Amino acid sequence: MSKPVTFPCPHCKKPSLWHDNPSRPFCSERCKLIDLGAWANEDYKIASPTAPELTEHQSEDDLND
Ligand SMILES: [Zn+2]
Repeated sequence: MSKPVTFPCPHCKKPSLWHDNPSRPFCSERCKLIDLGAWANEDYKIASPTAPELTEHQSEDDLND
């Protein structure tokens, strides 16, 4: 009666096995790579020298209106 321990994959939210899972906390190596890739892309955008400044000014204008 021992149920396998499962957890929601941080990327696809599907219940995934904890034990014998080399890609945990992700359900699979694929989700792991996709999620890490998404973070890397966001970091790259944030680190971009021009985009964040423009976005901030636009947001402030919207709030002040
Ligand atoms: Zn997944």
